[in-house]
Parts: sequence; structure tokens; C-alpha cells
Amino acid sequence: MTLLNDNYLKLPGSYLFSTIAKRVAAYKESHPGEQVISLGIGDVSRPLVPAVIEALHKASDEMSRAETFRGYGPEQGYAFLREAILKHDYLDRNIQLEADEIFVSDGAKSDVANFQELFDTSCKVALQDPVYPVYLDTNVMAGRTGAFENGRFGGIVYLPCTEENGFLPQLPKERVDLVYLCSPNNPTGAAMSRAELKKWVDWAAENNSVILYDSAYEAFITQPDIPHSIYEIPGSQKVAVEFRSFSKTAGFTGTRCAYTVVPKALQVYDRAGKPHALNGLWLRRQTTKFNGVPYIVQRAAEAVFSPLGQAQIREVIAGYQQNARVILQALQNAGLTAFGGVNAPYIWLKTPKGVDSWAFFDRLLSDARVVGTPGVGFGGCGEGFFRLTAFNTPELTQEAARRIAGLSF
Ligand code: PLP
Repeated sequence: MTLLNDNYLKLPGSYLFSTIAKRVAAYKESHPGEQVISLGIGDVSRPLVPAVIEALHKASDEMSRAETFRGYGPEQGYAFLREAILKHDYLDRNIQLEADEIFVSDGAKSDVANFQELFDTSCKVALQDPVYPVYLDTNVMAGRTGAFENGRFGGIVYLPCTEENGFLPQLPKERVDLVYLCSPNNPTGAAMSRAELKKWVDWAAENNSVILYDSAYEAFITQPDIPHSIYEIPGSQKVAVEFRSFSKTAGFTGTRCAYTVVPKALQVYDRAGKPHALNGLWLRRQTTKFNGVPYIVQRAAEAVFSPLGQAQIREVIAGYQQNARVILQALQNAGLTAFGGVNAPYIWLKTPKGVDSWAFFDRLLSDARVVGTPGVGFGGCGEGFFRLTAFNTPELTQEAARRIAGLSF
């Protein structure tokens, strides 16, 4: 008899997107010919920008010639990309890091999922509610939680992000080893200010805790007081790992490239109390379990940082930001209260009194033929909320907005 990892059995089925797909399919079947618009997707709709495509073509040609062909590359990424990331995202922002503190990967999803391997299973984990589900599920798989009861996993410290606290996590009252912070947040769109983030960095330093900071949506920040990197906060290199991605920044959701910053100053301890740098442990993990991102993809990612690449991706992001404004305005016209959409591609709307997340889903589908995501799918505190995304085309977003604005609640 081969025993399984029974932590997997603790996970409730992830029915969110399959339930949505089923309900949409049923609606379409009973309303043939009607156009249903999705504002539910977390995927981009605009193609890769020309500077990136050119780099892909050039690198592909290099792969066709024996003199320039590349096989395995460095697991942690080619120097040309790590240097470009370092300069553009850190040194130019007056953040002192070194290239070997940056690890290029095939996605922020895999990195945020895998990083917990470096910590003991006894570590106490805190996470925002609602939030991107990968943080929780991977800790469940690793055996860091109890059973799932009444919508909560035993052993996890949930940090409710509610309308009352501006959807920002409050410091835990109990001791926590690891905290996942997602800012700008998926799904609420809330982003932590410098002062808010400083509270967390100071707390982590005082409590010897580690912050796992996911800033996959930093490119959508518009307000000057919102840090793009946790390393803008003094002292953070001793307490925080940062996850970044080219997915939403440059349309790489299908191309796959991201990076994780693990400062050498960040230490964790063995049972004898001896400190170990997380940087060396992550290097060991990656060189053992990962064989790097394709050369052509890394060249494409490098092109994102060229002046032309920057101008082109800024235009794409501006288009999504405009979509967000259009959606926010439509919701206001419909008499709904909405949050987010200013520093993130996500709009988090409050469902009308007495209408839960799923009832709102059905109402929006039947009355406006628009699909979104019920907030409760991101955590218990998401009940009574609903997520719309700015990632559809301008035309379809405007049409969806026109339909929503015509509803009355
Ligand atoms: N982090 C957050 C908060 C996300 O919402 C997502 C994707 O939706 C990811 C990470 C995944 O990024 P990647 O495409 O780089 O795996």
C-alpha cells in the first residue's frame, strides 16, 4: 500500500472557476445568440509589445545557429536579465541590492508556492483574507495547517481585510513566523502605503518574522505614496522576500517569466539557534529543483526594460487602467459601492444589502450578461463582495460598463 500525502485531502475542491464556467455555459445554452462579456478573468488580453516580439525573434534566430545556440542556462537566470532587473527595478529607485540576490523564474505562482519549503512545518503562517489562494493551499499541502472547518484551516492566522480597515491587514496579536502580504492586492485592489508597510517591516524585525511580499501588480500603482517594492522601507532587507512577475506588467502570462528577490541579509535559524542566509538556501533549492527559464524568454523579458519596451508596456498598462476607471464609473452610476481599481487592475465591489457574492454573480449574468468573480471564492471575508477585472479589451469593457450602468440596485 502506497500512502499519499494526506495533507492534500484537507484541501476543499477548488470549485470557483469551474462553477463559474458551468453557470455561464448553462446561461449561454438557454440564451443562444446573446453576447456574454467576461470581467472575471485574471489574464491579460493585449498581445506582447513589439520590442518584446523583436527580442523573441532575435533570440530564436540565435538558437538556430551552432555559434549562438544555448543549452542549459544558469538556474537563477542569465546575468543580462538579472542586471537589467537590478538596475531598473532597484538601483534606479535607490535600493541597494546585488544581482545574486535576484532569482529569475518561470512564474511568481511557482515561487510563492515553493518558497515555504525553506521553513519548518511548525512555522506559524499568517495571511490576508481574502487573498490569492496559492499561499494558503501550498501551506496546507506542506502540512502546516490543521483541518478545514467552518471555512477556516486550523493553525493559520487569518488577517481579515474588510471595508472597516480599508482592506488592509492588521498586525497579528499572536506570534507568527511567516506572513504573506500581497500589495497591490488580488482580489481587493487595496495597496499598502509606505507608513502601513513600515509597520509590518518594524513588526517583523521586532518579532524575528519573515515577510513574503507579493508585488505582482506593482506596475499598476498610480499613487505616489504606495511603494513599488518593500525594499523602499528601511530595514526590510533583513525581513522580507519579494516576488515580482512579468505576467501582468508585460503580458507574459503565457510566456512565463518572473523573479524573486532574496536579500543576503535575511536570516533564519536552525534548531540550535544558528543563523542561515535564506539566499543560500533558495539558491540550493532552485539549483536542485529548477533548470531555468528559456533563453529566448529571458531575452524577451530583458527587452521590457529597454526605453522602447518601457514606453510600449506603459501604454498597454494605461489601457487597462482606463478600463478600471470605466468600470468604477459604471458601478457608481448603478448605485454600487466599489473599491480598488486605482493601484491595481482589480475592482472590488460591495454587493447590495441582502445579496451574497453568488447571488450577485447570477444577477449580473442574467441582467447585464457580464461575468465576474464572487468575492467569497478568495476567502471568507470576501463574502458580500465581487471582483471585476480591467483586463478585457477597451471595447468589451465599455460595453460591459454600459450594461452595468443601466442596472439599478
Ligand atoms: N501573485 C498574484 C497575487 C497573482 O494574482 C498572480 C496571478 O494571478 C500571480 C502571483 C501569478 O503570477 P505568474 O503568472 O508570474 O505565475
